[in-house]
Amino acid sequence: MTLYKASCHCGAVKYQIEGKLENLIECNCSICSTRAHILWFAPLSAIHFESGEDHLTSYKFGSEHLNHRSCKTCSTAMFSHGEYEGSEKAGINIRTFADIDLSKLDITQYDGKAL
Ligand SMILES: [Zn+2]
Repeated sequence: MTLYKASCHCGAVKYQIEGKLENLIECNCSICSTRAHILWFAPLSAIHFESGEDHLTSYKFGSEHLNHRSCKTCSTAMFSHGEYEGSEKAGINIRTFADIDLSKLDITQYDGKAL
């Protein structure tokens, strides 16, 4: 388990999350491709805010199953969340993590567009 620190571009939204970076996906669905997400999935309750929890916007579309959260000031896409198998799960944009080298991670291309 590693502790990761996430921040939006302007620094208003900051949180920490502990876990193991695995099962990462880069998805080609409309929202992931336009917002350039690289996703890692974790329980929403694993996100511990240092600041800015009330500084997040909400965006829903389509079935409105997922709530996409971005910084109100700088628009950085932080994570999305929704109920999955009875609990609230988050799809976290790991591009917001400090001190990780994306080129060293195993990232699977996911065909979300086909769903
Ligand atoms: Zn921001």
